[in-house]
Amino acid sequence: MPLFVALSTFGSLNGLIFACSRLFFVGARDGHLPQVLGLINTKNYTPVPALIFQGITTLCMLTTSDTLILINLVSFSESVFVFMSIMALLWLRYKYPNKKRPIKRLGTVRSRPRHSQKSLNMAATSSPGKRLLRSKSGLRIVPMSECGRSPFELKEPEWIPDKQSPTCMDCKEKFDFLKRRHHCRRCGRVCCAACCDTRMELPRMCFLDPVRLCSSCANTTQKEKIFFSQDLKNLVTGAILCVGSDNPNLAHCRLSPDHRFLMLSGDPNSPDPPTCIPLHRLTSLQVERKNQDTAGGCLVSGLLVQYCLAGEEMQDITLEAPSDATTTAYAFLAALEKAVFMMQESRDVIGTGE
Ligand SMILES: [Zn+2]
Ligand SMILES: [Zn+2]
Repeated sequence: MPLFVALSTFGSLNGLIFACSRLFFVGARDGHLPQVLGLINTKNYTPVPALIFQGITTLCMLTTSDTLILINLVSFSESVFVFMSIMALLWLRYKYPNKKRPIKRLGTVRSRPRHSQKSLNMAATSSPGKRLLRSKSGLRIVPMSECGRSPFELKEPEWIPDKQSPTCMDCKEKFDFLKRRHHCRRCGRVCCAACCDTRMELPRMCFLDPVRLCSSCANTTQKEKIFFSQDLKNLVTGAILCVGSDNPNLAHCRLSPDHRFLMLSGDPNSPDPPTCIPLHRLTSLQVERKNQDTAGGCLVSGLLVQYCLAGEEMQDITLEAPSDATTTAYAFLAALEKAVFMMQESRDVIGTGE
């Protein structure tokens, strides 16, 4: 029996030495204790100063030879600190109910959404013509045929290999045991957690879940979010514009519901089908701006668009806001400018889609 007691004591002591020294270490890292306790051995990753500090405080306890006093002291102080920690948790829960919580109860609440096979099957079958792909960046739901693809779709970037990047590509800090590498899902660069901590939806790469982005990609994606939520609607609704440069006609211009064609129709009652220009065929663009009277900003009042249909020569077309234009026409032109810019970015990486 004494042998088992000795073994059990050894085990629990081992655990205590392990855990308590790491508590000093974390406290120092967070700035609650002298910084020297937060140092770490670069070879074995052992918090040596914290271990030595723990050893010294333990030796101080040996000044008394009465074991009962020691047991009382330890159980009392430990209970006090456990009680204070639990109270602090309750207080935080009450005071900051919406704070981010790194540790959550398993089961009903999950920190990251996971997809059951059933919900994945549903996602795949509810959008016909699409299939589910699992890449290292996450789950993607992509159209099976070329004609189902959005002209704004972007290809997943190649990840820059870990070996090629000893430092964060944004803040230039060296990676080590504590500073880990993360890949931006949009540009594939390697950044530290602080420079790459935004998670956002990335519809242009067809990701099912929000993905990790570096700060500059997060900025771009945020701007595109506005494009997808507002400008794209303006484009599909359409506007009345002056079309053609020599003898301009009024025409209703809009984007087809699948966003793949720019459609121009003259008289809405005429039986002629509207002119359709595939959006990915638009090649270059000149923008004409005019000063806005009220706010002093610039409005896009005209666009010169060049396009080249398969096997034909380059043609160009001028779209201008008519003299009595409403805000719809200006909004349409501004949105089209953004759309052509984004589409060219897509074409640079995915080709013409044919
Ligand atoms: Zn960084
Ligand atoms: Zn990025």
